[in-house]
Amino acid sequence: MPAPELVDTFGRFHDNLRISVTDRCNIRCFYCMPETEVEFVPRAEVLSFEEIERFARIAARLGVKKLRLTGGEPLLRKDLPVLVKKLSAIDGIEDLAMTTNGVTLASHAQALYDAGLRRINIHLDTLDRERFREITRRDDFHHVMEGIHACLRIGYGPIKINAVAVKDLVEPDIVPLARFGREHGIEVRYIEFMPLDAQGLWLRNKVLLQSEMLEMLAEGIGPLDEIPPQDVRAPATEYHFRDGIGRVGFISSVSRPFCLNCNRLRITADGKLRYCLFAIEETDVKTALRDGSSEEQIVELIRSTVARKWIGHEINTTQFVPPPRPMYSIGG
Ligand code: SAM
Ligand code: SF4
Repeated sequence: MPAPELVDTFGRFHDNLRISVTDRCNIRCFYCMPETEVEFVPRAEVLSFEEIERFARIAARLGVKKLRLTGGEPLLRKDLPVLVKKLSAIDGIEDLAMTTNGVTLASHAQALYDAGLRRINIHLDTLDRERFREITRRDDFHHVMEGIHACLRIGYGPIKINAVAVKDLVEPDIVPLARFGREHGIEVRYIEFMPLDAQGLWLRNKVLLQSEMLEMLAEGIGPLDEIPPQDVRAPATEYHFRDGIGRVGFISSVSRPFCLNCNRLRITADGKLRYCLFAIEETDVKTALRDGSSEEQIVELIRSTVARKWIGHEINTTQFVPPPRPMYSIGG
């Protein structure tokens, strides 16, 4: 096998690409988007399916094996199954997944499955309709539940739930979500609130920490044991319940940063390549995809971005500067 090509100066190799297909969204989670006056990228600036496919093909040639579609809300992108089909047919791509808020999933799940999608993360912070409305500023809880049940019926696997952990808000949801996951064979992934919201609301003391959630789960359900990671570069720390029923995961960017094992690159809906969620700089690949640049020129843009990758984010230092783009415009 040829040596992986996308190795940065800290020896991390990059085989995972997250593709944001749109920055638009049909809900307004307060830790991601502003409530009103959201500025979206003009449609003409958003990469076409052909441009995304070409970029993914070049990335695959450089060793990328895993793709994840995200946004914004990826299901707002018309004809998404067409893109899923194109991407899953790329030589070298072993894994294609999607992260969605699930609001319109019930009506898209079958077509996406037929196009080859199997792995799905559905974003849901609470089983309480009122709190859902408070968090997302929309009354779509029942739509998300319909989406989850559609995926269960169709046979998606694994299905995961992404739950953002904000202190003094979702404490009552931690245990019920895990119970729901145990009942349906879904892994709940609790994601510590990160400083990526559009309104600058993040404060360290608003982060519900992994250690606090573990205590709640042990008390409310029963003892848990950490699962040794199959892939040390996976961002989640996973636990199973000692009674053998179900598992949960934690993405703890604040309390347990995993930068030293990071293998991810991201491309935004408007074609900017980023080496980190929190990066300040980014590389414009859209222009190269549109101005007739050769494959070798695009390879060089990817390589040079990886070569500039920093050692990690500095959330836990006083020097931390949030990135100029909020979460919805990067692609989580
Ligand atoms: N709209 C889709 C969704 O909500 O899943 C995909 C895009 S969204 C930006 C991707 C994920 O980012 C969400 O599932 C949510 O869990 C996570 N997220 C958004 N804002 C966050 C924040 N400030 N801190 C931690 N996670 C966040
Ligand atoms: Fe939309 Fe996802 Fe951001 Fe919520 S987290 S506002 S669903 S992009």
